[in-house]
Amino acid sequence: MTTPLLGQSAEQLRHWLETQGQPAYRAQQLYRWLYQGGLRSVGGVTDWPKALRETWQDLPVGRSQIVEKSESSDGTIKFLLATEDGQTLETVGIPSTDRLTVCVSSQVGCPMACTFCATGKSGYARNLAVHEIVDQVLTVQESFARRVSHVVYMGMGEPLLNLEAVARSVEVLNTDIGIGQRQITISTVGVPQRIAELAEYRFQATLAVSLHAPNQALREKLIPTAKQYHLETLLRDCRKYVAVTSRRLSFEYTLLAGVNDEPEHAQELVQLLRGFQAHVNLIPYNPIEDADFERPDRERVQLFLRELTRAKIAASVRRTRGLEESSACGQLRRRSLAV
Ligand code: SAH
Repeated sequence: MTTPLLGQSAEQLRHWLETQGQPAYRAQQLYRWLYQGGLRSVGGVTDWPKALRETWQDLPVGRSQIVEKSESSDGTIKFLLATEDGQTLETVGIPSTDRLTVCVSSQVGCPMACTFCATGKSGYARNLAVHEIVDQVLTVQESFARRVSHVVYMGMGEPLLNLEAVARSVEVLNTDIGIGQRQITISTVGVPQRIAELAEYRFQATLAVSLHAPNQALREKLIPTAKQYHLETLLRDCRKYVAVTSRRLSFEYTLLAGVNDEPEHAQELVQLLRGFQAHVNLIPYNPIEDADFERPDRERVQLFLRELTRAKIAASVRRTRGLEESSACGQLRRRSLAV
């Protein structure tokens, strides 16, 4: 067996150990160590006999290494992790009194190249494997010594370009780590056909769609890939997603001063989303290097929010956490690549 242990179901582990002539309880022991015990090498399965541990000591468990950890004053911790093959990725743990949220990456870098996103500027290396996604959640859980309650796929990468691994990781987080599907959010800027494919999994997870503009022309300026996926088609696919899954959807809208934050943009957005059972998440732009955008001030953000709520569109402003620790997605990795 060369696929890492992390990401395998209890049934898969049982089946594999059975083929090795081992009883089912050995698989249960391994399973517990893997998903609850912070296992990093098979040598750590201390309730296995020494001979068995030695036989399997080189089996890959699938945990990444922590390269750097930076904590901001609000308790948010950003991790730079290294995979087996030396790729680096970011994950963020965001604590509050009643939650511990992990912002996971789904790819190393990102090919979508959104103009205001740090990850988009660092290029793209590859998709993350299931164990590399699940590892991020375990790393945060272990570091905070507290159970992770929420997971958002809002780190580096475009989850729908890595749909198979992302979907499997949702199952593992839910079944093997015990995170409720409703506590999981998958964020996408939109990839043709993939929203319909995601709907087929019938997850209870929330889909968040990155809109960032109320019309096609402006959206194309901010998101190069929007040219291949017209706003009307994207919204049609979103409506179908809601119809198939019976789940509400949310839209993300990064507010860029003087670019997409005018009251007229808010009104246009109201027209666009009329009749849509959706929540709009406003994200004040988090400044990054090499981008000519500015963060709108508080009043401006509140004005935009008021335009939406006045038109009965459910909306809220996402609080920026850990701003001083380069919390915008991809910033930590970029800095580490530069040195
Ligand atoms: N690829 C996914 C996940 C990206 S990160 C997607 O596009 O949805 C989650 C959200 O943060 C996206 O809406 C993304 O556009 C936004 N974002 C990226 N960089 C940002 C920045 N510097 N400031 C504010 N929001 C940003």
